[in-house]
Amino acid sequence: MKNTARTVMLAAILSALLVPALAVDPAKVPDRYKWDLTAIYPSDAAWKQAKRNLEAKSAELEKYKGTLGLSATKLKAGLDFIFSLREELARLDAYAMQKSDLDVGNADALAMRQAMGPMGSDLSGKMAWVDPEILAIPDEKIAAFLKEEPGLAMYKPVLDDILRMKAHTLSPAEEKLLADASLMYDTPESVYTLFSDAEIPRPSVVLSNGETVRLDASAYTNYRASSNRWDREHVFSAFFGNLDQFRGTFGAMLNGECKKDWFNAKARHYDSCLASALDGPNIPVAVYENLIKNVRKNLPTLHRYLKLRQRMMGLPELRYSDLYASVVKEVDATYTPEQAMDLTLKAVAPLGDDYVKTLRDGFNNRWVDLYPYPGKHSGAYSNCAAYGVHPFMLLNFNGTYEDVSTLAHEAGHSMHSFYSNGTQPFATCDYTTFVAEVASTFNENLLNDYMLKHTNDDAMKLFLLGSYVDGLRQTLFRQTQFAEFELKIHELTEKGEPLTGDRLNEVYKGILEDYYGAKEGVTVIDPVCYSEWAYIPHFYYNFYVFTYATSLTASTALSQMVLEGKPGAVQNYRKFLTLGDSMPPIDELKIAGVDMTTDAPFDITMKAMNRAMDQMEALLDKMQKEKK
Ligand SMILES: [Zn+2]
Repeated sequence: MKNTARTVMLAAILSALLVPALAVDPAKVPDRYKWDLTAIYPSDAAWKQAKRNLEAKSAELEKYKGTLGLSATKLKAGLDFIFSLREELARLDAYAMQKSDLDVGNADALAMRQAMGPMGSDLSGKMAWVDPEILAIPDEKIAAFLKEEPGLAMYKPVLDDILRMKAHTLSPAEEKLLADASLMYDTPESVYTLFSDAEIPRPSVVLSNGETVRLDASAYTNYRASSNRWDREHVFSAFFGNLDQFRGTFGAMLNGECKKDWFNAKARHYDSCLASALDGPNIPVAVYENLIKNVRKNLPTLHRYLKLRQRMMGLPELRYSDLYASVVKEVDATYTPEQAMDLTLKAVAPLGDDYVKTLRDGFNNRWVDLYPYPGKHSGAYSNCAAYGVHPFMLLNFNGTYEDVSTLAHEAGHSMHSFYSNGTQPFATCDYTTFVAEVASTFNENLLNDYMLKHTNDDAMKLFLLGSYVDGLRQTLFRQTQFAEFELKIHELTEKGEPLTGDRLNEVYKGILEDYYGAKEGVTVIDPVCYSEWAYIPHFYYNFYVFTYATSLTASTALSQMVLEGKPGAVQNYRKFLTLGDSMPPIDELKIAGVDMTTDAPFDITMKAMNRAMDQMEALLDKMQKEKK
């Protein structure tokens, strides 16, 4: 059965990218801007009692062992019991995690949170027999049970998901062997993490102001965005030059990772690493291939953006190291929490009055913990693990436009959870990673559009358009560039080719040159950048990055259809929000209005990107004329 913490994990990864905020005194913050966790449990004591109850209840699991295939009634009783345990576990986890996130220094809250890990593993251990027992029931018998007992219908997606794995489940002895082998699986990734986060020697550079900087990963991310071009180039060449010196070692690690994936895929009768990785989340391989095909087809749009960036930066030639310096000035407008909430509510108005009303009620009823406090978890996330309560959003609001956009983003997640939880039984309420970032980025797009329509300030317009277009560059093009590399190196492994550092550089170089138009003179790429692959931890996440690109394409296309007033667009999207995990994610997106195996969503997204660039060019022409 699927892990229910996935959506939160994704939010945590994304939130790590946000800038730490300035802290305020929690005692001075009105309750309105703070979570009320008593909505989950009235007190810590109640949480502890619920935990003891769950521990006692989980001992009863044994009674259900060996009964699931006996009759339709027994199967339903077993699943009801299993999911009631999982529901309580998720609720306990939500309370402990959120309480601890409000004050990471609170030892009691930390102890509650830490108790959840062993409790979760204990429960999974006690449920380890469930999937194999369901897999052992013949398909015809399951079909007959479903006909006989209408109450089983709500578990059909869960059963389908388990039965789908039948062809890739081995004999008990083989499964045991694979489970033992899996203890070695994380070696390449843990060596990579240890080496690249800690043990690799770091170079130093002297910046144009005379300051000497030791280039670890965080200094690199900081200084690559420098407004001084000379500094950017030196930082790039020192940082990647250093990685390049160790390309043999990095290559051996990545080779190990790819070989592990191929071993696992073959053992489970998949014909490729990609097919194996996408089968778990139930995504057709065609979605991945279609993404790469369409992004490649639309590289001229990326090249247009790169030329526009060159113009805005006033550079004689654009270098790969020029891609992180900001081209549009951050607008210094600041927003109060009430303004941020009001803007978000106005921006989502196209989704209907009841959507707006529900979200407004949420803002009024403490769904949001808004301000940064000393000791509060950084970044932002939405959590809705407490089924039947309501979503909770954690923010660190400082009043910038970025913060308003983050509120709209998290509100998108929360409303998706709200409608899915309100429509689906617990067993299928939790939407999957593949669709998780659709509702959030959809709302960001609506906000961007609302702001553009309601400002007369050219600098603000340029900022909004610039962030929209650069978002597509970073999320759609760059993540697909990684996805393509990940696919290519796995294909080489499948052919038995060893991945050395030199070979990996060569593959990466080919992709970089195509994406950034090196041969057409769009971007100049310093050869040290061919080892950028060694900097990307995602190549150890087994075909994960592409979901960033597909999510943003889906949400951009869907928001365009809503904004353009396409008949049925709002209803279809609203229907999608209610689906949870009740059908394959690709089918959910089809209901929303996009088929991710076709060109259409990419065509709409590229049209939107080009239109935004038309507007940017017109604004630049106008601003240039005014200067003269
Ligand atoms: Zn998100």
